[in-house]
Amino acid sequence: MPELPEVETIKEELLPRLKGYCFINVDLLRPEAISEPLPAEFYHRLIGQRLKDISRRGKYLLFRLSSGETLILHLKMTGSLLLLQSHQLKLKPALNTLLSHTTAIFHLDTCTCNSNGKGENKQLLYFCDPRKLGKMWLVTEESKIMGKLGVEPLSSGFSAQVLGTILASHRAPVKALLCDQHLIAGIGNMYADESLFFAGIHPLRKGNSLSGEEINHLYITIQTVLNQAINRKGASTDNYRRTNREKGEAQFAFQVAHRGGKRCYFCGTFIERVKIRGRSAYFCPYCQKEERNI
Ligand SMILES: [Zn+2]
Repeated sequence: MPELPEVETIKEELLPRLKGYCFINVDLLRPEAISEPLPAEFYHRLIGQRLKDISRRGKYLLFRLSSGETLILHLKMTGSLLLLQSHQLKLKPALNTLLSHTTAIFHLDTCTCNSNGKGENKQLLYFCDPRKLGKMWLVTEESKIMGKLGVEPLSSGFSAQVLGTILASHRAPVKALLCDQHLIAGIGNMYADESLFFAGIHPLRKGNSLSGEEINHLYITIQTVLNQAINRKGASTDNYRRTNREKGEAQFAFQVAHRGGKRCYFCGTFIERVKIRGRSAYFCPYCQKEERNI
């Protein structure tokens, strides 16, 4: 699933290319992906709007429109976005396969009146999603969708103290707490595993069993792991692709995530996998000891 670094990469790649453009058309190939409003209303409220800004909150992408409304996308398990200029379509026959997995195609242009698709600047934004779990919203109040999200781990609102407060009030495994979007927004399986490895903390340790020193360490490793993954344009372990279909490279730096049965680069011990609340957690049993649980 795309996590914070993947969604941030998509945002950074789309923003300079689409800011100021207008939505001139949208092909809704899987209208059931629209959570709100009804598809016909979604279409009419979107078309003609200028894109003022693109931002990210947790794993959500937010397209802020001139009407004051926001188009919100969540890529869920297998969603990705592909940006093409219209003249590139003829050059990419491989797109035919991709089209069978397309949820929506947004047509954007520098001019709202040029809706016949012949504009030289026309951009096509494909929302591709093989598993068909991705969602879209068009809303006036972003807080309706985003209101319950936790703190952004790369924002100034996140600190070792904030992390400590979150962990101290929960007895759940620290891995599950890091992935809880209502506590911290944007971290998922891969980056929780990596952050815990570098902090030397076993994923099954209870949140309230961590020492102050461990919390400080974990706070730093969360930020380092996320920032390094953004610099490497996200991790393409599965369906995630950048907006030009190239793969990200963060997976090449993974120490434990998706490395079950392989040797730890630090100590040579085999990386193990354990299920925590239905999700896999990868860890090194030597570098991440469990015994400090209370
Ligand atoms: Zn190790």
